Amino acid sequence: MQAKEILKRYYGYDSFRQNQAEIIQTIMNGKDCVVLMPTGGGKSICYQIPAIAMQGTAVVVSPLISLMKDQVEALRANGIEAEALNSGNEYSSDTIIRRKCMDGSLKLLYISPEKLLTEIPYLLKHIKISLFAIDEAHCISQWGHDFRPEYTQLDVLHKEFPQVPIMALTATADKVTRQDIVKQLGLHDARFFISSFDRPNLSLDVKRGYTTKEKEQYILNFIKARPTSCGIIYCLSRKNTEKVAQFLQGHGIKAGVYHAGLNQAERNQTQELFKQDTIQVVCATIAFGMGIDKSNVRWVIHYNMPKSIESFYQEIGRAGRDGAPADTVLFYSLSDIIQLEQFAKDSGQQELNKDKLRQMQEYAESGICRRRILLNYFGEQMDHDCGNCDICENPPKRFDGTRYVQMALSAIKRAEEQIRTSTIIEILKGIPSPTVKRMGYDQLKTFGVGKELSTQDWQDYLLQMLQLGFIEIVYDQKNIVRITPSGNNVLFGRDKATLCVINRTLKEAQKSKKRLHLEIPSISIPGLASTSGQEDKKLFEALRVLRQQCANEEGFPPYIVFSDKVLHSLATIKPTTLEQFGFISGIGEHKKQKYGQRFVALIQKYCS
Ligand code: ADP
Ligand code: ZN
Repeated sequence: MQAKEILKRYYGYDSFRQNQAEIIQTIMNGKDCVVLMPTGGGKSICYQIPAIAMQGTAVVVSPLISLMKDQVEALRANGIEAEALNSGNEYSSDTIIRRKCMDGSLKLLYISPEKLLTEIPYLLKHIKISLFAIDEAHCISQWGHDFRPEYTQLDVLHKEFPQVPIMALTATADKVTRQDIVKQLGLHDARFFISSFDRPNLSLDVKRGYTTKEKEQYILNFIKARPTSCGIIYCLSRKNTEKVAQFLQGHGIKAGVYHAGLNQAERNQTQELFKQDTIQVVCATIAFGMGIDKSNVRWVIHYNMPKSIESFYQEIGRAGRDGAPADTVLFYSLSDIIQLEQFAKDSGQQELNKDKLRQMQEYAESGICRRRILLNYFGEQMDHDCGNCDICENPPKRFDGTRYVQMALSAIKRAEEQIRTSTIIEILKGIPSPTVKRMGYDQLKTFGVGKELSTQDWQDYLLQMLQLGFIEIVYDQKNIVRITPSGNNVLFGRDKATLCVINRTLKEAQKSKKRLHLEIPSISIPGLASTSGQEDKKLFEALRVLRQQCANEEGFPPYIVFSDKVLHSLATIKPTTLEQFGFISGIGEHKKQKYGQRFVALIQKYCS
């Protein structure tokens, strides 16, 4: 079968995405390749279609048992024979899997790197291997965030199986990692395929200077506006994940926690419940999310600022993998920055990490389209504004803030640049705190000049002054604040300072239709006059319930039955015969036969 036929028959898609067809052709011609695509970009199909088309079994190296399980379930749900060999298996099931490999009935074998190394002399030498796919290939790099020592032994593959081509896949794009992958795997003359890292279906929002209470209220409103959508909240500390989860639970929201302090069983449980849509929200530290391919995560919130754009992009990338609209919100505050700077300072690679943090701050403080900043960071240029970020939708209002900046700078100067932000605010507000009294700051001319503003507003303006480069924090001297040369220019009246108007709304801004709705491309389906039009929200809900029923019956997560995107298409196009049903993008032959009758019956009943 041709690659395109396989795409239609097994996956129900009509066309390949950027690079997919070429990647498939390259590996089928026996050449090594390296595939860089963002999360949700469509990497799996790149090795799965050759695996189906070629003779023998494709061996896929994957770092996590849960990831393998997800992939195997998704393949089987599409009628493709796949299994996973890893330390989580029973001995007897391993025997069955080995037999399936031997008789050639298995198209894909997922395997952990440890298991791979032990299976080489026995199993792998006795079966026909079509190709090797190394998933999450960045795990090979010591410089990356997911380094796995076992990955460094994978050079054995080309040594033992020189005739089998290797495909390395990753969503981490930096140059050092790329070179490491080629070197460590011993790839021959590998072709590189680098896709755009843009994820236009993810909306981007940033919220500056919220208090804990305000954050909680915003998040609560946000979730209440999406009662059936799952999401992840990333926090900097374990304690916060627990606090936020408790707060949400107290408001009747099903929320779980996930962090490195929990034992494996507890973590697995959270992950499973989330996959099944039994809990709606997971409050997590960065440890969460890599292990699952849940495609219907509809939003990601960063409760604190992440340490780099790479981490941020990877984390928000876990939303909207099915391509349907998904929302992301980043909260950041002065205390986040101080804490992250401290982490960077204490880390082994101080300069590098400080640079990364600075770039993250630039994103947070951006006055231009945020997607442009992100893509530019990944080396891509975008020639238009995205229309799907807060800056594009509601550009920040600015005002001449010279007077406020001068007040703050003057307080810093008069205290001889020896004080931290908290003391600056005490002086400005005229608060006679113990430090203020001991140091005699209550005698300064600036004492109390900024009474008119709240402490929180001063924090916001100081954060803006930091971002604008008027002040800097000296992290190795107890975080005292110094004035920079450009700060001095404002202080002495040589320059003006423009600040952003503070905006701490607790409700989301109204989103344009474009940001909220998925465009279902119009296709020609026999018997249906028009396939374009409005989605029927009620029908979508009914379909969602039926999907959950099917999932429960089979012990699959709902997103494995059908993605949200498929449900949106069904709720827009409303096919009422099995044949029409099969035309929907994302429904292959297997799923059409398996679920078609039930879904069509529901749509028929709904429409009559
Ligand atoms: P990745 O592994 O890169 O994160 P996946 O392989 O899981 O991404 O693919 C993400 C989603 O995109 C899946 O729902 C997949 O079915 C879908 N997809 C992949 N290729 C295509 C295509 N050519 N047309 C439509 N959807 C696709
Ligand atoms: Zn934008």
